[in-house]
Amino acid sequence: MGSLSEDTVRIVHELGGLQCRCGRLKEKGLTFCRRCYFLLPRPLQKALCKLLADGYVEAYAAAVKYIDEERPTMECDDERDDRQPGDEDTRG
Ligand SMILES: [Zn+2]
Repeated sequence: MGSLSEDTVRIVHELGGLQCRCGRLKEKGLTFCRRCYFLLPRPLQKALCKLLADGYVEAYAAAVKYIDEERPTMECDDERDDRQPGDEDTRG
């Protein structure tokens, strides 16, 4: 076994944690929270099923890059849950 790169160590740590890189809760053992995960295109989602020794780190990097650079309209639907009810155009 060679020595693990810093990236690998961080990724493994993240996998075992409960916080997604976006700050939301995720399940232990998963790379991202559901929200981030479903932002990814299918090939990237599949790539994240790889084992660490089998390209997972590369898949992770690609997924993060995708989320950071593409970030397809994260502010749609369920972001509204954070708003107060009745927070509409009442100010005219
Ligand atoms: Zn997330």
